[in-house]
Amino acid sequence: MNDYKDIGERFMRYASINTQSKEGIPDTPSTACQRNLAVLLRDELADMGASEVYYDEKHCYVYGAVPGNIPFDQAKLDSRKDKNKRHRQNNAPVIGLMAHMDSSPDVAGTDFRPRRIDSYDGTDIKLDKDGQYVLSASEYPSLKKHIGQSIIVTDGTTVLGGDDKAGVAAIMEVMKFYLSHPEYAHGTIRCCFTPDEEVGNGPMWLDQDHFACDYAYTIDGGDLGQLEYENFNAASAVININGISTHPGNAKGKMKSALLVGMELAGMLPSLETPFYTEGREGFYHLLEMNGTTDRSMMNYIIRDHDRDRFEERKAEMKKAVEALNLRYGDGTVELKLKDSYYNMGEKIRPHMHLIDNAVNAMKALGIEPMIDAIRGGTDGCRLSFEGIPCPNLGTGAYNYHSRFEYVSVDEMARNVDLIARILNTYASYELD
Ligand SMILES: [Zn+2]
Repeated sequence: MNDYKDIGERFMRYASINTQSKEGIPDTPSTACQRNLAVLLRDELADMGASEVYYDEKHCYVYGAVPGNIPFDQAKLDSRKDKNKRHRQNNAPVIGLMAHMDSSPDVAGTDFRPRRIDSYDGTDIKLDKDGQYVLSASEYPSLKKHIGQSIIVTDGTTVLGGDDKAGVAAIMEVMKFYLSHPEYAHGTIRCCFTPDEEVGNGPMWLDQDHFACDYAYTIDGGDLGQLEYENFNAASAVININGISTHPGNAKGKMKSALLVGMELAGMLPSLETPFYTEGREGFYHLLEMNGTTDRSMMNYIIRDHDRDRFEERKAEMKKAVEALNLRYGDGTVELKLKDSYYNMGEKIRPHMHLIDNAVNAMKALGIEPMIDAIRGGTDGCRLSFEGIPCPNLGTGAYNYHSRFEYVSVDEMARNVDLIARILNTYASYELD
């Protein structure tokens, strides 16, 4: 129902701005450069006539809204308990759209020069002048899908930042579409652009007064048609081991090597349940770090599983291994600190499966093949889901994330705008109780 000649240009505009975030910075935003895009988005939202445009200057979040345009029952609205909180204009759910402005710090370059190739012919693409970096269809078979399309690539020195400017651009086009096409029905639409997703702090300072939604979608992923509503349950386990150090020459019966006890612990956990051996919905134990001396050692594990019961069992197995070692080597030899990091948002989405069904139906209507995957990691939507806004994730048409070989398909980004607009249009006929 839409025409989007602009999304390629819009994407180029955003992708030319360096917004790399930085690991290990206590402040949000972690880098000042993200503000350059935030300010541009604020101004563009204001120019297109969005309402409630707000730039949280302190933490670098940008918000905006399109007021709903469907008839409503004022009495019913007045009787709602949540009327102030959600700034509700009608009985349809308020739907939020969220994407992150930062791009991955994984490739060091900071001079962003995206390049557009129209009518891609399927051949290898030399990214830099010297031909050191070649985006080749044999190495990246997904390229074959884009023959005849417009794609945007890097100059070989940086990531593209399609993760997640493809999401940002799609949301901006959806906002613009509904602001300029009042003939299509929709409830209130809100958008939020966050900083620092790549360093794990995307929704950290998100303000639910500005992003007051019933449901939301993050637009941040790979292929068009990707739809995710499950992520890992996640915990961290820090293990401190207290050994006894003596001179090795007269250590018999006295020395207790904290390093060897650590190795024993690793050996007690199922050896095939590591990231290397697992995929899909298989969980794992992952030893991130191990160091120490005979006297003291430490191990740093992460534990992951999509299934909540299995996740709890994994933590229990680790506790049992620690208990066994303390029986063998004495109380207090091994100390375990287990901490849950996040949970599978599936448990928050499942009571609202219309979020998935409506997206799948919209995809089918547009000839897009739905690809429903369980994320082997976390997502910003997870945190939001547990904070009261169920929030699955939609793909964007961006590929080869966090790499100088990253590219986006302009055609897929444009179809994604259709898809998101269609989902929002579906919700116009929904009534909240
Ligand atoms: Zn992302």
